[in-house]
Amino acid sequence: METLKFIFKFFVVVFLCAMAAVSTGGILLIPAMIIIIGYLIHYLVTPSKAEKAQKPGGTRTTPPPSASLARKVCRHCGAQNALDGVYCEACGYKLP
Ligand SMILES: [Zn+2]
Repeated sequence: METLKFIFKFFVVVFLCAMAAVSTGGILLIPAMIIIIGYLIHYLVTPSKAEKAQKPGGTRTTPPPSASLARKVCRHCGAQNALDGVYCEACGYKLP
């Protein structure tokens, strides 16, 4: 579906550029070509919305929320321990 949307948008852009070029007697033909090529490059370089959704924040160094969820919190001292840990790393209290 993404490709169909692109083809539709592309033809709209081409049509508008062609109309602009014809109405000005060919003066805008070169700028119109640049716009079309620029649009193509923009489409090819820009990642799709689905790819963006998978990487929120991009270059952020904070760990994803799933990392903190996959940890056991000690009921005795509140320290975070590995999910497969049996005893608290901080106080030695037996983890649930
Ligand atoms: Zn503890």
